Amino acid sequence: MKAEISCPRRKRDFLHGIPSHCWCGNPISVFVSKTTRNPFRRFYRCEEARMREGETHLFKWFDEALVEEILIVEARQTTIKEDLEAWLLQSLVELVELVKSKRTLDV
Ligand SMILES: [Zn+2]
Repeated sequence: MKAEISCPRRKRDFLHGIPSHCWCGNPISVFVSKTTRNPFRRFYRCEEARMREGETHLFKWFDEALVEEILIVEARQTTIKEDLEAWLLQSLVELVELVKSKRTLDV
């Protein structure tokens, strides 16, 4: 888990988080598993998949999607933080240059 967090930008590239639509284009709903292997575990799936069990539709465990979503948000926060730090550094450089040029003009 810790290794995944240390490279959030790379991790974000293959994470999809909480799905909004199935590959078939239909919106996703949350269902509850009734199997003995995963009793009461929630999962995402489209309504169409319930009627067409032979077809391949998106299936994703709710808890796994949430973990992915957290990692995506964390990666975005890291990107924003890095962008703000770069902006701040650039602003300081420009401010120093401005002060230097002002002093040159005053002399
Ligand atoms: Zn579908």
